[in-house]
Amino acid sequence: MLTHLQRVRQSLKYRGQSATKSTLAGTACPCINSETLTPSREWHRDNPTAADCSGTGLISSTRTNLTIYTFIQEMDEEELEKLPPGLRNVAALKYFGAVDASLNFVSVASMDEKRDYVVFDSLKYIVRNVDQQKFGDSIWYEEAILERRTD
Ligand SMILES: [Zn+2]
Repeated sequence: MLTHLQRVRQSLKYRGQSATKSTLAGTACPCINSETLTPSREWHRDNPTAADCSGTGLISSTRTNLTIYTFIQEMDEEELEKLPPGLRNVAALKYFGAVDASLNFVSVASMDEKRDYVVFDSLKYIVRNVDQQKFGDSIWYEEAILERRTD
């Protein structure tokens, strides 16, 4: 018999939409400011011969694209009104957890807003406002807002 967790994962896989989780990993660039933890353009101006991270904060980086299965829906007006002010006017979608092809739960919680994104219907989205619920040690539910990237 399937557990609740297995049923949730199977329904994501077989009834959900497919999307791509795209993440960038690499070596931290020396330009990263130790206080703000953000990449510094000034550092690159002062060190013109150093490898350029192009504002990502990573050098020798590799992008990984993982196919995920998830439920994504448009937000209705009432939901949009409850969003924080900065998100209210964006083309936002609501996202409900994901699994990979082998039914492993895929979390989007640690995705970086500058480097990582989700591709859905050929459009790129930044993951915002992740809300997780755990069952024991396993995340069984995750909800997030997908904010349309403007680039
Ligand atoms: Zn850099």
